[in-house]
This record gives sequence, C-alpha cells and structure tokens, in this order.
Amino acid sequence: MKVKDCVVCTAYRQRRAHVLAPAIAKQAFIRGVMPMVVTVEFMFAVHRRHLAGRTLSTRVHTPTLHRPDGGKTTITVQRVCNGCQKSLGDATEAELEAAVAGRPLPDVRLECGCLAQDVAA
Ligand SMILES: [Zn+2]
Ligand SMILES: [Zn+2]
Repeated sequence: MKVKDCVVCTAYRQRRAHVLAPAIAKQAFIRGVMPMVVTVEFMFAVHRRHLAGRTLSTRVHTPTLHRPDGGKTTITVQRVCNGCQKSLGDATEAELEAAVAGRPLPDVRLECGCLAQDVAA
C-alpha cells in the first residue's frame, strides 16, 4: 500500500498540518528544495513506521539514564497512547503541565495511528 492511499497516514498529515507545515517549510528552506519534496519524504517515513507496526509519532524516546558514578538516575516521562497504550515517546511540556494540573491529556490516538480518522473532525 502506498502512503497516498493510506487513510491513517493521510489523516495524520491533515490533522497535524499546523505542526508539520512550519517544520517542513524550515527543512525545505535549509536544504534549498521545494516543501513538497520534504513532505513526500516525511510521509514516506511515517508510513514506513506505520507498516512496521510502530506508532506514527516522530517523538524521541529518551532512555532512562543511569549515571556511571551511581548518582541520580534520570527518567524521562513517556507518553502512552490514550487509545491502545502504546508508548509514543517522550511526553511534551504541555502534557506534563496538564498532568501536574490534573487536566486531561491531549488525545494522541491520531499521532499513534490507532485511530484512522479523528471522530471529532
Ligand atoms: Zn500508513
Ligand atoms: Zn494508539
């Protein structure tokens, strides 16, 4: 299945366009290519993760750091999908703030890929 035929990845691109578009435009500017080139490469990478059964998220996973001198262990809070419980990677500032304030965390099922279409859309 090609990425342009994939409803999951297409929905992901459309619903996250407000985040992706500026990042893609910046990349295109740095590399001196058309934004379309970067978009295609990016979506190809997203769909490859999707086909591999991983989440669509581009978040980094910061592993737990054990200090060799036996000092404090640094744990980076991981965000887990509110739909399927898969780990998406490091939690964002906004998610940490929401958690501390006791507010509901943002819906990440689209970023995960376990929800093809946002039901509210
Ligand atoms: Zn896909
Ligand atoms: Zn999920």
